[in-house]
Amino acid sequence: MYYSRKRPLEDLPQELTAVWSCSDENCNGWMRANFVLANSPVCSQCHSEMVKGEKMLAAVLNTSPLQDKV
Ligand SMILES: [Zn+2]
Repeated sequence: MYYSRKRPLEDLPQELTAVWSCSDENCNGWMRANFVLANSPVCSQCHSEMVKGEKMLAAVLNTSPLQDKV
């Protein structure tokens, strides 16, 4: 086996992750829902309302303790 090279980013496992996305279509702000405590957060970039959605993201190993794996 030959493992001297680090894995490229594309090899990271991805999973469908709950996120908050900015409601402003001109803004690409979003954040992982796991890291958000507010029920209706505002975008950190433009302060618009955010809408809940899902994104394919690299799986995070150090998940927040708030996360509920069902
Ligand atoms: Zn925004």
